[in-house]
Amino acid sequence: MLVGHYAPALLLRRAAPDAPLWALFLAVQALDLGFFALAAVGLESARVVPGGRPVFEVTHGVYTHSLPAAVALGLVCAVVGAFARRPGVGAALGAAVTSHWLADLVVHVPDLPLGFTQEPAVGLGLWRLPVVPWALELALLAGAWLLLRPRLAAAARWPGDAAVAVLVLVQLLHEHVVPTPSSTLALGASAYGLYLGAAALAWRVDRAARQP
Ligand SMILES: [Zn+2]
Repeated sequence: MLVGHYAPALLLRRAAPDAPLWALFLAVQALDLGFFALAAVGLESARVVPGGRPVFEVTHGVYTHSLPAAVALGLVCAVVGAFARRPGVGAALGAAVTSHWLADLVVHVPDLPLGFTQEPAVGLGLWRLPVVPWALELALLAGAWLLLRPRLAAAARWPGDAAVAVLVLVQLLHEHVVPTPSSTLALGASAYGLYLGAAALAWRVDRAARQP
């Protein structure tokens, strides 16, 4: 999943208004940020098939894309938040981290490990279908934004509209225009660009939301 991951971030911001949106945006992609960093040094790996269905399949992702890793990293965020006396923010960030695995579960072919080895692995495989996966991602993103938007200060709504519009554009370009990079390293570089750029857009929403 690509921009659909931001739907839980928007909903968690609605539930926990103290949680910075930029941090939630990074948290929902934390497993991918970890995956592409570990893949760059050969500790995890994927098969990339430009134009294929799916274009991307995890071949070794135990450290970042297994169920125990996703749950453990989420719990770490919650515990750190509790120690920092920000339990609500920590719980929201932890839920954001773990939400990545659940969202990936819907679209990935069975490549998400259930335990500490690559097999057995799960995935409902929506990526095998045309249109449905990216239409679902856009619907989740738009729906979550429509639920959060009225809760934000008026000054933060337009920066949020702009951020969501950029994400919609990225998803459509990714599906229809820009070819998928052919290596995991190149895919990781573009993913980092997107994830950090999206966090910067979310930071603008946070800043506008704080203005009196
Ligand atoms: Zn992922």
